[in-house]
Amino acid sequence: MSSTTQITPKAPIPLSRKPSGRADPGAKTACIRTFGCQMNVHDSDRIRRMIQDAGYAEVQRYEDADLVILNTCYVRENAVDRVKGHLGELNRLRREGRVKRVALTGCIGAAEESDALRRTYDIDLVLGTHNTYELAEFVGLPTMQETYTPELPGTSGEHNAFVTIMTGCNYQCSYCIVPTVRGRMICRPMESVVREVENLVAAGTGYVTLLGQTVDAWRHEGKRFCDLLEAVSESAPRVWFTTSHPSNMEDRTLRAIGEKDTIVKRLHLPVQSGSDRMLKVMHRGYKAERYRRKIEVFRDAVPDGTLSTDIIVGHPGETEEDHEQTLRLVEDCAFDSAYIFKFSPRRGTEAAGLPATVPDAVVQRRFLAVLRQVERNAFARNQRKVGGVEEIYIRHGSTEDGKAIGETWSGHAVHVGTDIAPGNYVKAKIESAGPHVLYAGVPSGRL
Ligand code: SAM
Ligand code: SF4
Repeated sequence: MSSTTQITPKAPIPLSRKPSGRADPGAKTACIRTFGCQMNVHDSDRIRRMIQDAGYAEVQRYEDADLVILNTCYVRENAVDRVKGHLGELNRLRREGRVKRVALTGCIGAAEESDALRRTYDIDLVLGTHNTYELAEFVGLPTMQETYTPELPGTSGEHNAFVTIMTGCNYQCSYCIVPTVRGRMICRPMESVVREVENLVAAGTGYVTLLGQTVDAWRHEGKRFCDLLEAVSESAPRVWFTTSHPSNMEDRTLRAIGEKDTIVKRLHLPVQSGSDRMLKVMHRGYKAERYRRKIEVFRDAVPDGTLSTDIIVGHPGETEEDHEQTLRLVEDCAFDSAYIFKFSPRRGTEAAGLPATVPDAVVQRRFLAVLRQVERNAFARNQRKVGGVEEIYIRHGSTEDGKAIGETWSGHAVHVGTDIAPGNYVKAKIESAGPHVLYAGVPSGRL
């Protein structure tokens, strides 16, 4: 993998109802490609609703599509390079008369670079994250107005649904393009979120993920994130949330994770660095000690929980001592998994203009050191689960080797030998474990 290593599989990009090949020969067809995080997956679900309403059949291959929509990510440079590769391929298909129109949406669409891309690749429509709704007109639907999030179901599939609770971000981390492309934080009213969750559950959704760049910063009319989480956990049979900012994480939220049966016992809390000096340069707004204290509260309140984080290596100015402090924090917090990113300069961010860039070879060495440290901890922690019987929620149906992908209540990813459909629970014994995943035998029963 180039500049990012995920040592936990990020939620795969789910495409619900995917017909393959050309559907009815007379029907208009569209292909949606999603790059990046769950926020983009969620936006793609809204786009999918629009194209379906406009009478398009969804297809999986570019060559079968009249319209191709690339819903993009801008967080790291390699994401842009990937999209350019796809745009080049689409131009070739257009010259051959296969693909007719191309739209670019998402975070790249909101960035300055999008004008140059539009000209170079002759893109028909470029939209940012704030005006995705303008796609409606492009595909022949009545013009829509949208303020922050539409009253469209944010589901990514029948059983697992993403529900956006806030958009944008009020932080200004030195390296991050998100505030530029997604704007300032807007929180969605509690009643609206709860209503959407209730509707999803009534329609069969078994797992709701509350989504936003800093979900724990959510607040509305005197209510704070923990109030919203508790309300949702009363309505949904299974709830998780991502992603959180350490400065906003309240102890009562950490305790609620342990107390409420319906909340998955997994916390994703990005730390970025273990060095106070770097945290200051990054404008993260907390010190490593405060982060450690949050983790202590979490481990105490949720003894069987799992903890994951994001770490950036090679931010400009990062010294060997800073790196050592990150390794120490990783050791102390014993993460169950981590997304480790090599710093990628994004035009328009403060860090892109900072001197003291870290040489590539040094970044690579530090990257591997952090990765090994996380994997060592994760492997040791996962071994403790071997021999136990777990209740497993099936998230994705079985693969070619007959294994479904599920999740325990402690938030561990499990491969389990079953063909039981997603959305069901099974009980199975954990037979072995790697650093990233647990392996269960054939379930002893369906719950
Ligand atoms: N809002 C979340 C938070 O505060 O931690 C993170 C959102 S960001 C889209 C996801 C992760 O990408 C970040 O936690 C950070 O580790 C990484 N990231 C963001 N910008 C980056 C950059 N310029 N270079 C490398 N990694 C970056
Ligand atoms: Fe980016 Fe997260 Fe920082 Fe906001 S809090 S600027 S989304 S890294």
